Amino acid sequence: MAFKPVVALVGRANVGKSTLFNRITRSRAALVADFSGLTRDRHYGEGRVGDHPFIAVDTGGFEPVAKQGILLEMARQTQQAIAESDVVIFLVDARAGVNAHDHEIARLLRKSGQRVLLAVNKAEGMRHGSAAAEFHELGLGEPHPISASHGDGVVALVEEALSGLVTAPEADAPDIDPVPAEGQADAPDASQRSHRIRLAIAGRPNVGKSTLINTLLGEERVIAFNMPGTTRDAIEIEFEHGGNAYTLIDTAGLRRRGKVFEAVEKFSVIKTLQAIEACNVVLLMLDAHEGISDQDAHIAGFVLETGRALVVAINKWDQVDADRRQMVLREFERKLRFLSFARMHTVSALKGQGVRTLIKSVNAAHAAAYAKLSTPRLTRVLQAAVEQQPPPRKGIFRPKMRYAHQGGQNPPLVIIHGNALDAIPESYRRYLEARFREAFKLDGTPLRIEFKSSR
Ligand code: GDP
Ligand code: GDP
Repeated sequence: MAFKPVVALVGRANVGKSTLFNRITRSRAALVADFSGLTRDRHYGEGRVGDHPFIAVDTGGFEPVAKQGILLEMARQTQQAIAESDVVIFLVDARAGVNAHDHEIARLLRKSGQRVLLAVNKAEGMRHGSAAAEFHELGLGEPHPISASHGDGVVALVEEALSGLVTAPEADAPDIDPVPAEGQADAPDASQRSHRIRLAIAGRPNVGKSTLINTLLGEERVIAFNMPGTTRDAIEIEFEHGGNAYTLIDTAGLRRRGKVFEAVEKFSVIKTLQAIEACNVVLLMLDAHEGISDQDAHIAGFVLETGRALVVAINKWDQVDADRRQMVLREFERKLRFLSFARMHTVSALKGQGVRTLIKSVNAAHAAAYAKLSTPRLTRVLQAAVEQQPPPRKGIFRPKMRYAHQGGQNPPLVIIHGNALDAIPESYRRYLEARFREAFKLDGTPLRIEFKSSR
């Protein structure tokens, strides 16, 4: 399975990287993940041009001359983003002209061997030739004059960047069953249980992802380990556990050494985002010893955005005392309240404690994400909910809900039909969501509800 192409935006400070980033990701509620860097934030967003989705990375400040400490680490992170991207857009400033930093960055980019497009920003109102001409000397091919703030030339630039990297238009959704015909069973049935579960283990560095993978795979039969031909393909490991088939989608660049898997790159935001998009269940790992960080919340936010099923594991439980345990649980409640739909486990990946029940929750979350919700039963649950508590009136309108049917899976989508449904407040939508969750046991999956009014 191919990942979405990754476009990295590179350039010195103030050339307009954030402005361009916001413009090309704006189609989808902009930011999907925001990982605090060391001195400034790096942004990761999903963009789309025509039918072609991609992931954009704003690499933040590029400090090629950094020699020490924090600057060196930042340069390293930026270089990693460049190495993991499919194409780089190198921004320079038409108004400021070429400067020494631009030359230094150009040199590094040429050395990286990565495909690079040179974009000359802030070129609005400037004559085409004059804006771009002097940037030829960077030796990165034809300069593309653009204006990130006005939008001039941006679509053409991104289209050229993506040419040759075309992905199937959203057809890469993991094996989704057709929505069932009416009258089919609601309960997860045998055919769903045998359905391969595509699992991504996500978490920030050192939470214990590799340890868990080895604990899991140590016991189980590894069926296949596909090393992809290119960085744009997922590394996938197929294994069986308790009679179920899983495909583990790697987030870290795993290599196999003897019987043990080890991570080659310590942590990659890009691989994490890609694996979350390519899976159908995410296992989010947190670290009891370190507590819940902003970065955990960012990863969790991205999971929520994609609508994937989710199980949470607070790891290293063996390493912390009773007081600390209480503290971490409270912190989890407070900072990750929006994950209340997911089951949470406390585990020790190192000792194998809690791993079996964890996997049971993964199975349950998967079954919930693909649950078949029949129209008659959905409609009965809806009617019972309305009877118990009717939706509030809005002015002269009383919303009237007639029936509900399933419009999608992973996450389940319930479409409710009726009249004047745009008057239904968010609180009532949440009430209905709770009733559907309870009736269909939808533990571990987000649930989406849409209202369709007929005139
Ligand atoms: P970054 O540091 O590379 O992320 O740069 P920013 O996106 O923060 O932009 C730096 C400054 O340049 C801001 O004041 C922007 O408003 C301005 N800017 C960005 N794009 C354009 C452009 O296309 N034309 C002009 N005139 N200004 C721009
Ligand atoms: P990753 O970066 O998320 O893959 O994390 P690793 O699996 O490499 O683990 C980071 C460190 O935490 C290693 O030293 C592990 O031995 C340790 N570790 C992982 N899981 C546990 C656990 O359950 N308990 C304890 N005490 N240490 C753990």
